[in-house]
Amino acid sequence: MAEAAAQGRPVAALTGAGISAESGIPTFRGPSGLWKGFRPEELATPQAFQRDPEGVWEWYHWRRGLVTAAEPNPGHYALAALEHHFRQEHQEDHLVTVITQNVDGLHRRAGSENLIEIHGTLLDSRCTRCSHGETIPPEASGLVYCSACGALARPAVVWFGESLPPDAWRAAYRRSAEAAVMLVVGTSAVVHPAAGLIELAAQAGAVIIEVNPEPSGMAGWARYALRAKAGEALPQLLAQAGVPIP
Ligand code: NAD
Ligand code: ZN
Repeated sequence: MAEAAAQGRPVAALTGAGISAESGIPTFRGPSGLWKGFRPEELATPQAFQRDPEGVWEWYHWRRGLVTAAEPNPGHYALAALEHHFRQEHQEDHLVTVITQNVDGLHRRAGSENLIEIHGTLLDSRCTRCSHGETIPPEASGLVYCSACGALARPAVVWFGESLPPDAWRAAYRRSAEAAVMLVVGTSAVVHPAAGLIELAAQAGAVIIEVNPEPSGMAGWARYALRAKAGEALPQLLAQAGVPIP
């Protein structure tokens, strides 16, 4: 990590729900991931939306409320500081990329700009007819409609059984393949195809550093495994690499 920072070699961070756990946003596994007794797999699907759009929108309004009330934590801020440090030291905008599976918007609020949200975002809607995307008004409740054509809109997230947005996936693929270091933070790495990015980076020669209090599905790829919370381990890792955190 210190070498990458000194020489300005590309770093990719792949993050999952665990990086936002310290912000109070529940991961899906475990009882706090449930909502009115439903499992996410029962609500985050195209079939659920077809059957019960009001119910699915109600769940997403609830989740949007949770994330807007939450604040980024030191783990999010550390990754943003890393990006800005590389930009200043090496005069290049894309040396540090955050590839997130999260839909909570906390990386952006922490200041990450070179950010790829491969599963979309809770904060936006997308039209089911014309695909127009827009920010959901904060006070919205019930069904959400497209401001361009008036048709029913859906949450701008990737549901179980759907493929990832091709542009985001291509960008994530490219940044993973060229990374000298990949940080894998707070993801159990069982959700494909995102988990495939770790394998891709490793096979292209990246040093993989895992940050997760629990052993995960990707342990075999990691050169280093930091068994600690993201909000503690990431600031420490950057301090050791000589990256100042404001
Ligand atoms: P996941 O599969 O990404 O697993 C969460 C991982 O985080 C686990 O391995 C756990 O050990 C680890 N973890 C827990 N606390 C941590 C901490 N403080 N620091 C570092 N690691 C920590 O998560 P999931 O909940 O099963 O989610 C599956 C899918 O749903 C993913 O796409 C996920 O990103 C998405 N999701 C997103 C959010 C969000 O946007 N915040 C919340 C829930 C789920
Ligand atoms: Zn429309």
